[in-house]
Amino acid sequence: MGTIGRKIIGMDVDELLRLLNAAFASEWLAYYQYWLGAKLIKGPMKDAVAAELNLHATEELNHAVLLAGRIIQLGGTPVLDPKAWFDHSPCAYEAPADPYVAVILDQNIAGEQCAITSYKQLMDTTKDKDMVTYNLALTILEQEVEHEEDLQSLKEDLDLMVSRGSR
Ligand code: FE
Ligand code: FE
Ligand code: MG
Repeated sequence: MGTIGRKIIGMDVDELLRLLNAAFASEWLAYYQYWLGAKLIKGPMKDAVAAELNLHATEELNHAVLLAGRIIQLGGTPVLDPKAWFDHSPCAYEAPADPYVAVILDQNIAGEQCAITSYKQLMDTTKDKDMVTYNLALTILEQEVEHEEDLQSLKEDLDLMVSRGSR
């Protein structure tokens, strides 16, 4: 932990660490939801969708890497036990119990929308108080915004394909 790096933070560091660990737990759940969904997915366009899900899985894992780095830098401890991910995460884990493409897409769109809201809140909370975390949250937010649009446009293509195919 860097002493001055910690001292320049204009907010309660324990509260900041709580928020960072909440995001960290959400990223692991998002990673697993994407990773498993990509394996189980069935239906039209499944290969294209699975490729995107796999890419997003690696990007969520990288978000967890970035958050763990910041938590450790601040003298905190990333959530140690996966059992606690559910307690920390503000976003739900939606098990891919139904492998149909549209269902998997909807579950992950919901996850992205929760992530976008959470990172927006983290930015609002750290604005003018912790520039380093603010910038980190912006970097991740940019990718979550991209993820939401990727999935919504795949869903749009799927809907077009299904509706035109049935005429
Ligand atoms: Fe993420
Ligand atoms: Fe994402
Ligand atoms: Mg993408």
